Amino acid sequence: MSQPQHDRELGMGRPITRRDFLNGVAVGVGVLGSAGFRKLASAAPTGDPSSASYPPALTDMRGSQPGSFDVAHALRDGTFWENAGTPEDTHESYDLIVVGAGISGLSAAYFFRQQAGPKARVLILDNHDDFGGHARRNEFRVGNRLLLSNGGTQSIESPSDYSEVAKGVLKDLGIEPKVFYKAYDQKLYSHLGSACFFDKETFGEDRLVPGMGSTPWPDFLSKTPLSDKLRREIARLYTEKKDYLPGLSREEKQARLAKISYATFLTEVCKADPAVLPFFQSYTHDLFAVGIDAVSALACYRNPDDYGGYQYAGFDGMSLSELEKEEPYIFHFPDGNASIARLLVRSLVPGSIPGHTMEDVVTAKADYSRLDQPSSPIRIRLNSTAVRARNMGEPTAAKEVEVAYVREGKLQTAKAKSCVLACYNGIVPYLCTELPEPQKEALHYGVKEPFIYTHVAIRNWMAFHKLSIRQVVSPGSYHCFTMLDFPVSLGGYDFPSQPDEPMVLFMLRTPCQPGLARREQYRMGRYELIGTPFSTFERNLRDQLNRMLLSAGFDSARDIAAITVNRWAHGYAYEYDSLSDPLWTPDERPCVIGRKQFGRISIANSDAGASAYTNVAIDQAHRAVQEQLKAT
Ligand SMILES: Cc1cc2nc3c(=O)[nH]c(=O)nc-3n(C[C@H](O)[C@H](O)[C@H](O)COP(=O)(O)OP(=O)(O)OC[C@H]3O[C@@H](n4cnc5c(N)ncnc54)[C@H](O)[C@@H]3O)c2cc1C
Repeated sequence: MSQPQHDRELGMGRPITRRDFLNGVAVGVGVLGSAGFRKLASAAPTGDPSSASYPPALTDMRGSQPGSFDVAHALRDGTFWENAGTPEDTHESYDLIVVGAGISGLSAAYFFRQQAGPKARVLILDNHDDFGGHARRNEFRVGNRLLLSNGGTQSIESPSDYSEVAKGVLKDLGIEPKVFYKAYDQKLYSHLGSACFFDKETFGEDRLVPGMGSTPWPDFLSKTPLSDKLRREIARLYTEKKDYLPGLSREEKQARLAKISYATFLTEVCKADPAVLPFFQSYTHDLFAVGIDAVSALACYRNPDDYGGYQYAGFDGMSLSELEKEEPYIFHFPDGNASIARLLVRSLVPGSIPGHTMEDVVTAKADYSRLDQPSSPIRIRLNSTAVRARNMGEPTAAKEVEVAYVREGKLQTAKAKSCVLACYNGIVPYLCTELPEPQKEALHYGVKEPFIYTHVAIRNWMAFHKLSIRQVVSPGSYHCFTMLDFPVSLGGYDFPSQPDEPMVLFMLRTPCQPGLARREQYRMGRYELIGTPFSTFERNLRDQLNRMLLSAGFDSARDIAAITVNRWAHGYAYEYDSLSDPLWTPDERPCVIGRKQFGRISIANSDAGASAYTNVAIDQAHRAVQEQLKAT
């Protein structure tokens, strides 16, 4: 079949909600000359004008939306200042300027106001058209039905483990974790299982096999297109309960597993045929953003899959330490942790989001025109990329910071007594060129982990119902995991619990390059993300859904109502790992060296804690604000 004919069958030409033809055009890495920044930097939301002022409802390419990173890339490439001209002084003066309106930046403003008082003047800058950073909201409308989903940050993970500071923020915002025990319908999917999709390019044949993880492995594997030998091999790994490192103590085993990848564990320790690896390759994608070649066997043992679809094979007979029981993965607002960001904004900028409770925030519509009002002590300025933050004078004696940023193509400056950089570590050396070299080096060490969270609004979920599945693991496909959205009804939002209702599908893609070192895989993955147009994601996911759900009659052309590709080129904070990183003492870690206060500038964000979690973003904001409050 020709490509245009195939595209037609997939429904590529059909109107879907707010199709945005301008978005998704690849901007090659490093191609932007400084002469171009004025034009490109002003790339505010495009597409349907009615949704342009309401970013959560924009579809197609979101996350790092097109246009949002061009100024930052020109800064990185050293081309920005060549033709930047003289900045316009806004003559605005604040107590604090925060760079980054993610959870960390919003929390920094929150802590600062809490301690400096309600009159404290704070400006928050962010390069995106929406606030929340990774904690972003996706909205869809299918017919009259509103569907919500998380554009990035999914859930409040293990809230009992949050620090007292982070727990305090949740409490102040009115978030009661126990509410989710009722709001999250833990029964809705209880009769639905997991399937594995074997694609013909990897496994020689397209075949969807339900019952993964719920039927005995030999039975499940007997239905797959794998050879008898591989079926026996994989079944053996799951069932033989053998100690593959006999004679070693528990500590010695853990030390050994910490130094080998899970792939090496399977082939060299469990002596599995290397041909089993493609089946397991993407098991680690959701948590580590790389495959099993680059994740330690110990980390796999300690982190069984969040979604409950599969566990790691080979550990059952190893007599390793007992894993602590974790809290259930249910602390999920219908838009994920975007609700935390929205509750912070509601508190910081009165009138921006109506309501008072964790329930009513779910359906409340944010008024983006209220975010940056001169009358408000706290202002959030979106579509504004900071390009410089400098102490006015010697860092040790400075009393003021000047921050330059580009907004709508204009280079502007504002001043403040303090500045918190709650963006991400990799950009800080370009913003603060005067930082000591070892600190810059430390800030560059971690490489943020790229992810694609694709959300597909479908007109009904009958295909999943017919197949009795909730999720599909697809180790060889473009998206390696597909799942019906988290079943949460809260406030005025009712989850689509009937199969004939519209639903949001979550599809995960991790753009890594197996075989390279972990940090290199992340760099390559990021280039892939930035260079891939929306149409490629769309074509691939339409094709994949058709092939996976064929037997249940799913038709992408008919059944897809809207698509949002949440592109997180700078995704999870880099976390240190026994396989890829030296064994540092706590104070030697690059995140600690990198986050050192620099006069009136402090560094927050989750990179500063080298941990990709909401609570870490909050904790780091708290530390950064304390540093600055002591300095003033
Ligand atoms: C896909 C995904 C899923 C996740 N799921 C979970 C989860 O379920 N639970 C959990 O606890 N954690 C999760 N995390 C991690 C969590 O989202 C982060 O740890 C946390 O939200 C990071 O917040 P932050 O404010 O430090 O950074 P960010 O959210 O990255 O916010 C920083 C903001 O600063 C902006 N910025 C950068 N440079 C500039 C500049 N020069 N000028 C202006 N603005 C700038 C960025 O664009 C961004 O908007 C997830 C992360 C991702 C990517």
